[in-house]
Amino acid sequence: MTVAEHTGQSALQPVESYLAEIIAAIRPLPPRELGLEEAEGAVLAADVAAAWPLPPFDNSAMDGYAVHAADTAAATPERPVTLPVRGEVPAGDTARHVMPPGTCLRIMTGALLPADADAVVPVEWTDAGLDQVTIRQAAEPGHAIRRAGGDAAPGDLLVTAGTRLGPVHLGLLAAAGHAAVTARPRPRVTVLSTGNELIEPGQPVTPGQIWESNSRMLASAAQQAGFAARRHPIVPDRKEAVLAAIEDALAGSDLLVTTGGVSMGGEHDIVKAALQDLGTVGFRKVAMQPGMPQGFGTVGPAGTPIFTLPGNPVSAYVSFQLFVRPAVGVLQNREPERLPQTRAVLAGPARSPRGRKSFLRGTLDPARGTIAPVTGQASHQLASLARANALIIVPEDVTEMGEGERADVLVLP
Ligand code: AMP
Ligand code: MG
Repeated sequence: MTVAEHTGQSALQPVESYLAEIIAAIRPLPPRELGLEEAEGAVLAADVAAAWPLPPFDNSAMDGYAVHAADTAAATPERPVTLPVRGEVPAGDTARHVMPPGTCLRIMTGALLPADADAVVPVEWTDAGLDQVTIRQAAEPGHAIRRAGGDAAPGDLLVTAGTRLGPVHLGLLAAAGHAAVTARPRPRVTVLSTGNELIEPGQPVTPGQIWESNSRMLASAAQQAGFAARRHPIVPDRKEAVLAAIEDALAGSDLLVTTGGVSMGGEHDIVKAALQDLGTVGFRKVAMQPGMPQGFGTVGPAGTPIFTLPGNPVSAYVSFQLFVRPAVGVLQNREPERLPQTRAVLAGPARSPRGRKSFLRGTLDPARGTIAPVTGQASHQLASLARANALIIVPEDVTEMGEGERADVLVLP
């Protein structure tokens, strides 16, 4: 039985099929050459192999003395060995130091190992002498030496295609001498809020007006999800203003998100009115709560994906997490990014309208495996969203779940 048959509401589309349509409609961005400074969060389009040995040369693992290991073989705390010190090799010294048998050099961590040396005696085993040094312990050949290529040899795979580049990958690529990579950058998203009632925080409001919150919340959520996000200034409820703002945002965006103006208010639902004329954006009622009115399609010459989310802040946020977040993965040619899902025991009852999948705000206690619905589940109640860390899923055909029942839970970032 489909949801529509079950509820008699033929217009409602299940969440999963709506998401599947979205995922199928989004094409990956083309990969391009990215300098490391713009590669954070980008997804590698090809494997990167080491072109040079890492480390690039034999060097000292410690501060100490470069020696001929044989010269230290007899050293013990009772009968230490004393060697003349011929000089010192700090890190960054590229000179070729000569070190005949029976002599040594002070050497610092990361400094080029003199060609003659085959061990480093840590300074802790010595009297730290400058002209001559007394060594209390024998160093095996190779001791405290970091060999060229010991971390990665030329040709070794460093980072595989499909990896989202994080701090350690960037560090490794830099260490291995790669200044650029071929990758799909973080998709650029612009968030536009529509509504005549909206005022920038910091400006005075009069009754009838509210401070605008969606664009900041969603730009931040987008950034967290892996997009490069920016917000557009507030867009008034006029068709031309909406179209002009979208036109403006298209330049420099790989994806657009609008909020507001898509519900059932007829001529007041300006986003719907403006985009319906284009014929490339579909407006749906999705079988969910919050967030029933949804729109998705493409705009502009490049067929840029656009999500028109409902204006109520909680609806907008939940819709973003369910439908927009997956798009970042698709745009970067990876699996759709989804919120982590788990199961937990309800610490209180959960209610849901028949025929709609509910995403109720809850506080998940991962250690105890329980989740408590928060008080205040209406779509405008952002303060209650701020108290939640997870969403309780109540399936379409369920209207009530009792305390002690196990529920599917989406963990919020
Ligand atoms: P709409 O979807 O435009 O009908 O708006 C539904 C509700 O969400 C109304 O109460 C709006 O005032 C509110 N709303 C719409 N956009 C925003 C926004 N950007 N920030 C805060 N509240 C909003
Ligand atoms: Mg509105």
